Amino acid sequence: MITVDEHRARILDAARPTPTAMSELADALGCILAADVFSRWPIPLFDNSGMDGYAVRRSDATAGTSLRVVADVAAGSADDPAIGPGEAVRIMTGAPVPADADAIVPLELTDLGTVVRESAPEKVTIIRQPAPGAHIRRRGEDAPAGALAVGKGTPLGPWQLSSIASAGYGRALVHRAPRVAIISTGSELIAPSDTPQRGQIPESNSVLLAAAVRASGATIISVRTIADDPATLRRALSEVDADAVIFSGGASVGAFDVVRTVLGGELGVRFDSVAMQPGRPQGFGVLESGMLAFCLPGNPVSVAASFEMFVRPTLRRMAGAVVLDRPRVTRMAATGWNSPSGRVQILPAIFDEKTVQPASRGGSGSHLVTSLAAAMAFAVVPEDVERVSIGDPVSVMVLS
Ligand code: AMP
Ligand code: MG
Repeated sequence: MITVDEHRARILDAARPTPTAMSELADALGCILAADVFSRWPIPLFDNSGMDGYAVRRSDATAGTSLRVVADVAAGSADDPAIGPGEAVRIMTGAPVPADADAIVPLELTDLGTVVRESAPEKVTIIRQPAPGAHIRRRGEDAPAGALAVGKGTPLGPWQLSSIASAGYGRALVHRAPRVAIISTGSELIAPSDTPQRGQIPESNSVLLAAAVRASGATIISVRTIADDPATLRRALSEVDADAVIFSGGASVGAFDVVRTVLGGELGVRFDSVAMQPGRPQGFGVLESGMLAFCLPGNPVSVAASFEMFVRPTLRRMAGAVVLDRPRVTRMAATGWNSPSGRVQILPAIFDEKTVQPASRGGSGSHLVTSLAAAMAFAVVPEDVERVSIGDPVSVMVLS
C-alpha cells in the first residue's frame, strides 16, 4: 500500500505543461496565463476626475464663492482648458483633470446639485471647499508603468482578463487546454436512457468524468464505454490521441478487470493499492505516445474522489496552473462517523458556515451514488483517525 501523497507525487512528476499560444482575451476565459503580463503604462494613465463636478483651483473655491464656468470637459476629451482666478471647469468622471486644477468639487457640493444639465451653466456656487487633490485619481496611483498586472500561472477569469486589457493587451499567451479522452469499462453498463436487464446498470462515470474534466478547464476529445474485453480495449485505446486518457472500472484484481490486465500487463502501467477510502486500486502510467493514463476504480464515489485527488491537480498542472488544489476549509463535525484506520477517508459532504456532515446518511460506501447529488464538498479525514466525533475539526475540500 502507498500513501495518497506518494501516488499523487508520482503522477504530478509526470505532468508536463501543454504548449502555449496567443489567444484573444475573448477566447481566453478559463485558460492559464503562460507569461507574466506587465502594464504598458501607469494605471490610471492620466490624472482624471473621480466624480462628476467642477475642476477648481481650491484656494478660490471657498464655501459660498461663485465661480465662472469657462469650459466643459467630458470623458474622452483631450482638452486642457486654462482656469483663471475665480473660474471653474465642468468635468465628468474619467475626464482628464486640467493642469490648472488642484481639486474637484462634486456636483453634490455645489448649489446646482445632481440635476442633469445638457450644457455647462455660467456659474456655480461652492458649498464646501474641497481638500487638496480631492477626487483626483492620480496617474500611476494604482500601478506604475511596467508593473506586474497578472502573473504567469494565473487562471484567467473575468477580473484577470480585464486587468490584462487595462494593462494594454488585447491578447494573452496561454496554455492550450489539456485534451482528455475517457474510456469507461464494464460489460454491465448500458446507456442511461436504456432499460436495464438483470445485471445491467446505467453508465454514469463517463458523464461524471467528462463534466469534471470540462469544469477543470480541460477539453474532452472522446468519451466511450466498452465491454470488459481486452481486444476491444486495445482497439479503443489505439484510437485515442490525447494528452491524457482516463479509464474507469476494471482496475482491481477481479477476473475481468480488463484495464489492469491490458495496461498493467503489456503496457507497463503501474497499479497500486493507495491508502484511501474510497479509491484504493489505482493505476497510473505514461504510455509510449507520452499520453498519461489514469486507471480509476469503477465505483462512482471512487471515481469522484480519485478525480479530485489525482486527476484534477494533474490537469491543472498540465494547463500551466500554479495552484493545483481546491480550496480547503475547516469545519466542526455536526455528527459522528467512522473512518477506516490506515486510509485517508474522502467522504461526500455538505457544510455550512460552521459545520460539516456526510452527504449520505447511509454511510461512506463507494457505491452510494446518491450521496454525490447532495454533496458540495469532500470531507478529508487523515489515515490515523478511526472515529470522527461531534465537534471535531474536519478538513473540507470545497468543490464549487
Ligand atoms: P469495477 O471497478 O469495474 O470493479 O466496478 C466497481 C463497481 O462500479 C461495480 O459495481 C460497477 O458496476 C460500478 N461501475 C463501474 N463502472 C461504472 C460506470 N461507468 N458507471 C456506473 N457504475 C460503474
Ligand atoms: Mg468492472
